[in-house]
Parts: sequence; C-alpha cells; structure tokens
Amino acid sequence: MATFIVLLGPPGVGKGTQAKILAETTNLAHISSGDLFRENLKNQTELGKLAKSYMDKGELVPDDVTISMIRDRLSRADCETGAILDGFPRTPAQADALEKMLTGFKGKVDYVPFITAAKDILVERASGRWTCREQGHIYHQKFNPPQKVGICDIDGSELYQRDDDKVETVSKRIKVYLDQTMPLVEYYRQKGVLVEIDGSQPVDQVTENLLAALKK
Ligand code: ADP
Ligand code: ADP
Repeated sequence: MATFIVLLGPPGVGKGTQAKILAETTNLAHISSGDLFRENLKNQTELGKLAKSYMDKGELVPDDVTISMIRDRLSRADCETGAILDGFPRTPAQADALEKMLTGFKGKVDYVPFITAAKDILVERASGRWTCREQGHIYHQKFNPPQKVGICDIDGSELYQRDDDKVETVSKRIKVYLDQTMPLVEYYRQKGVLVEIDGSQPVDQVTENLLAALKK
C-alpha cells in the first residue's frame, strides 16, 4: 500500500529542506505546492499568473485551482507508492479533498509531522532563504550557504530571493498560516497521525527526529 506523508508547519520552518532529505531516504516523490506554482510562474501559464497575484500578497491561492493542480500531480506514475506532501493541504477544504483523492490509491495520510519554531526563527530563516531557479533547491545565507555565492551547488543554476520572502510578506504569510492552516493540526491529531517535531534545531537534528518519528 502507498505511503503518504504530509509536512505541516509555518512558512520558513524547514518543510522543503526536510522534504527533500526524506524523499531521498524513503524514495517517495516530493510534492511541493509552492514549487509547482513557481514552476507555472516561470513557464508563464494561466495558473502561474493567477497564483502570482495571491503569492505576492502572501495570501493563499484559491482551493479549487490548488486542489486540481495537486490532483494532476498525484496522478503521475511516481506517486504510485506514495508521496511526501510539502505545503499541501493548507486549509480544511484541501485536507478533505486530499482524503478523497487518496481513496483512489487505496491509501490515506499515514504520518503528519507538525514542525514548529518561534516566529523570530521563521522570519530569520525565510528572509535569508535563497532558492534555486531551476529545481527549487534551498539555501540560507547564514545557515546553509552555497559553495559559490549565488550559484546552486547541485545544478549550477542561479539562486534568487523569492519576492514573498520579504519580511513584511513573511509576517503576513505567518498570519495566514495561523488563521487558515492551524485548524489542520487538530484535524490530523484526531486521526491519530500527528507527530510534533521541534523545528528550531539544526537541520540534521530535525531530520533525525523526523526519521525516528516515522519509524514508530
Ligand atoms: P519551508 O519550506 O517550511 O518554508 P525551507 O525548508 O525552505 O522552509 O527553509 C527556510 C529557510 O531556512 C531556508 O533558507 C533553509 O535553508 C533554512 N533552514 C531550513 N531548516 C533549517 C534549520 N533546521 N536550521 C537553520 N536553517 C534552516
Ligand atoms: P513556504 O514553504 O515558505 O511556506 P510555499 O512555497 O509553500 O512557502 O508557498 C508560497 C506561496 O504559494 C503561499 O504563500 C501561497 O500563496 C501559495 N501556496 C502554496 N501552497 C499552497 C496551498 N496549498 N494552498 C494555497 N496556496 C498555496
């Protein structure tokens, strides 16, 4: 049976960083809704243009378009054994839609690591984030700098600072997270799949705690 892991947590806490590491160790596909929107933006699709108008303001893209984008992605062959979902679901409507989608895989959400850190840590991480243009690899100017300034170690492409990683927009995104995404903590706790992870630790330590929680 397929395994689905949902990484839950505020903007900047380290979901993408951990999702990439977990995808390598588990061989599950990594699905990042933010990366999918940014890919659409780069390719100037209609979805990309629509998403940008919300992303720039730090607001959520409407549920209907987000859900259909994820449904398409989950229908690809690499998700047959499951996936690590990073940034989706972010609203109760998205969580309900995901549950319905996964019955088609004879699957369900198996684990929900809920990664947390204090607000000042989130702002410091997001505002120092550098993102790879080609494949979304993630760096930090202080905590995880690339070998060459402005160049991705893995694929050599340019690193850029996301427009929505400005301090004001990060604060807005944290507020949106508290209002719209926090209800999912109770939703998944009641299903018995939530595991709380301290995201304030260094990357390796968070990974170790995540892997230990998944083995249980
Ligand atoms: P999210 O996907 O939750 O927004 P990211 O994984 O993109 O978070 O991480 C946000 C920023 O913080 C990135 O610049 C990343 O390099 C850095 N980062 C991630 N995890 C840690 C950590 N445990 N300690 C220090 N910096 C981290
Ligand atoms: P972070 O990893 O820092 O939390 P993301 O890359 O996941 O940021 O998201 C960036 C932006 O993309 C969000 O602020 C929002 O506008 C949009 N977005 C990403 N995922 C979703 C989602 N599941 N529902 C609605 N909007 C989303």
